[in-house]
Amino acid sequence: TFRIHIAALKGGGWRRAVMLTFEDLSELRVTERMRVDFVANASHELRTPLASLLGFVETLQGPARNDTGARDRFLSIMREQGLRMARLVDDLLSLSRIELRAHLAPETPVDLAGISREIVDSLTLMARERNVNLRLEMPAEPVKVAGDRDELLRLMENLVENAIKYGREHGEVFIEVADGPAEASVSVRDDGPGIAPEHLPRLTERFYRVDTAASREAGGTGLGLAIVKHIVLRHRGRLTIESALGQGATFKAILPRLSPQSRSTSA
Ligand code: ADP
Repeated sequence: TFRIHIAALKGGGWRRAVMLTFEDLSELRVTERMRVDFVANASHELRTPLASLLGFVETLQGPARNDTGARDRFLSIMREQGLRMARLVDDLLSLSRIELRAHLAPETPVDLAGISREIVDSLTLMARERNVNLRLEMPAEPVKVAGDRDELLRLMENLVENAIKYGREHGEVFIEVADGPAEASVSVRDDGPGIAPEHLPRLTERFYRVDTAASREAGGTGLGLAIVKHIVLRHRGRLTIESALGQGATFKAILPRLSPQSRSTSA
């Protein structure tokens, strides 16, 4: 797409000149389009629980005014919807904070192995509810990357939570931390139903879900993997996703190792 600027230059009569300037707008257009879509999607995601919340308030004020049984049931649904809106707003804020800092590479030494241990400990209860076994494999030594501790905790939390939510009941989730000379990685693998190949390229888009009902049911906002992707990008790393239907899914974040120079000052 091009925008053409037309400017009449000085001069009169037949000597009047016109200057044409071409400006490539395609990239600008795409960015603008994405922004508009994002605002529309976010509004829609908030509107749905809000409408339900208001509907229940009106019912409680009107037809169900004296129905004590209905009141308790409705209040607990309203609480659920309120919590869903809160999660959504929190995720939107996280995403925009990470994006705002995208140009600042994080530089505090963070131990990926320690982070993974913390997340496994904090999600053990959730895993137990689905009878999922969490298995963590990592080197004995710390695995130091230049990072932002809170963001890396968030990254691991989102990946392990997804593996528990979308993996198999009575299944296994393997969390593996690996170290190398230049890069370190964490991978999260489940043995669940997996993801069909056509979904893989779009999985980290905001609000993209394979199964919207299942995601909502599991309390998902559709922003978890978008947050993961932005955290990995801010850490100058890469995210790989491997999956096939019926074969589980593996999400792997590969991050640059802390440089030897900063490692010596960070002990
Ligand atoms: P949500 O909040 O819906 O969980 P995410 O961005 O974390 O959003 O994930 C996007 C979608 O990717 C999910 O709705 C789900 O359909 C799919 N997905 C994520 N992780 C897995 C997994 N381990 N196995 C199968 N599908 C997954």
